[in-house]
Amino acid sequence: MNTQEFIALEKKWGATNYKPLDVVLERGDGIWVWDVDGNRYMDCLSAYSAVNQGHCHPKILQTMQEQAAKLTLTSRAFRNDQLGLFYKELCELTKSHIALPMNSGAEAVESCIKAVRKWGYKVKGVPEGQAEIIVCENNFHGRTVTIVGFSTEAQYRDGYAPFTPGFKVIPYGDAQALEDAITPNTVGFLVEPIQGEAGIIVPPPGYLKDVRRICTERNVVLMTDEIQTGLGRTGKLLAEEHDGVEADMTMIGKALSGGFYPVSAVLSNTEVLGVFQPGDHGSTFGGNPLACAVARTALRVLVEEGMIENAARQGEYLMGCLERIESPHIKEVRGKGLLIGVELHPEAGGARQYCEALMKRGLLCKETHQNVIRIAPPLVIKKDEVDWAMEQFEAVLA
Ligand SMILES: *Cc1c(COP(=O)(O)O)cnc(C)c1O
Repeated sequence: MNTQEFIALEKKWGATNYKPLDVVLERGDGIWVWDVDGNRYMDCLSAYSAVNQGHCHPKILQTMQEQAAKLTLTSRAFRNDQLGLFYKELCELTKSHIALPMNSGAEAVESCIKAVRKWGYKVKGVPEGQAEIIVCENNFHGRTVTIVGFSTEAQYRDGYAPFTPGFKVIPYGDAQALEDAITPNTVGFLVEPIQGEAGIIVPPPGYLKDVRRICTERNVVLMTDEIQTGLGRTGKLLAEEHDGVEADMTMIGKALSGGFYPVSAVLSNTEVLGVFQPGDHGSTFGGNPLACAVARTALRVLVEEGMIENAARQGEYLMGCLERIESPHIKEVRGKGLLIGVELHPEAGGARQYCEALMKRGLLCKETHQNVIRIAPPLVIKKDEVDWAMEQFEAVLA
């Protein structure tokens, strides 16, 4: 079957909630992927940062195969020999007290919201049903009804009401707005260290530090959504480290499995997660031995193979090169590590056409919103490969 035939199948049988580029991939290795017609592409999206470790990383693959042949799922009705080790290694690496394993990113966010609300009632003493959580404009935390209910993106909400109450929206990057929005019933503040889906929006320097101080002073739980920014993407294990802060709760997902399997987690620095008693919350697949084994290796290779440092080094180099492109179309280049956004002027005609032109030159990336090209290759990219990518960006943008 060829590309057009695969696309026709999707069109006939699938829900059309995505509009992918017309490339049908069948194989991946590191930063490279191949389509069904045998063409090779550099992957500069990394499945929205889920394959930070590169496609089909051999060590994660080996773990996946070995564990899949041994034991995949026990449910949490019984214990398994991977979960405890996963907890220990994850918490030691991220300097967390305890963790909660889930599957998708959205589930981690939902779990965090549940824990923080319960903490508000049981510990902070907020009157039942009155807990408020503050979130930011242009946030992206997933696609459940509760989460899209506090999105400010009209399309994400359209047609899905009624929504869960108890959320208040403030501008992103504005610590004073947080200070002003807090009431005695505020239990938590949910924020992305860099807003990924909003178009790689980097807040002003010191923002997270101010936010940390305000949350501590006002007894509000600081929740950082590091599902996209975490696990090395920005050149640190967690993006919050750039500001030298530790959130009370941190959500990770995506690259936690290196792209092999949906694995997410809520990390807790305080005892907020400790409010859960047996039966309060759960997931059939959360904490299963296959997920835990895969995640353990995915974390190990991230550290052992120097991917975080490489993201910092190659990210700085790539960003410098992008800033030097002389192009009438580029409005701004921004980001941290290997999470980079190139914003085009509105007159450039939209980022999509540039992504399509890049695809023809063997480089895959995806527009976010109208005018931003997101560049986020796997963290294993080397300098000469960055140079090759730059040739393609220059050819298309200059
Ligand atoms: C991708 C993402 C999510 C949602 O993760 P899913 O696995 O798609 O549910 C949540 N928050 C952020 C910041 C993300 O980038």
